[in-house]
Amino acid sequence: MKIEYEDSFVKIAGLLGGEEYIRVARALLNSENATDEEIASATGLKINTVRRTLYDLFGKSLITGVRVRDLKRGWFVYRWRAQRDQVDGFIFTQKRKTLDRLKRRLTFEDANEFYSCGKPECPKYTFEEAIEIFFKCPDCNETLKLIDNGFLREAFRWKIEQMIEEMNKKTTINDVAA
Ligand SMILES: [Zn+2]
Repeated sequence: MKIEYEDSFVKIAGLLGGEEYIRVARALLNSENATDEEIASATGLKINTVRRTLYDLFGKSLITGVRVRDLKRGWFVYRWRAQRDQVDGFIFTQKRKTLDRLKRRLTFEDANEFYSCGKPECPKYTFEEAIEIFFKCPDCNETLKLIDNGFLREAFRWKIEQMIEEMNKKTTINDVAA
């Protein structure tokens, strides 16, 4: 997959669903108000794949669909259009979700002590969990010891700060543009 310069709408489609989404996204940009069938023939993808992709993008508000009557055949079809102005908002929401997850994880790491046998393949346990298994690793039977999660917490903290900084920058650019 080779993308040198690409519209952010196509890029986000690619992140969501890979090559098939990229083809559908490009077809949407190339012909506004295309139907499922037109997109299928432009991309060479199966009609069901095209529809699944369109419904997903529609569900994420990245495209709109207008129901119109096909004059030749008499039945209703949908004409689809990319909502390129929704891309920034979509990316922001995704970042917001990731940030919330990271914050919850950091709170969890801050609030708990963790115990482990020290082997990388064995899981780690909270203090409460470690008590229940008598500080013995159920996988290898070694004694569980308190592990220092300072480095991990530092890494989460760094990532969170970096994301907040990035998101603030993005908002500033949008505010100037608006
Ligand atoms: Zn173990």
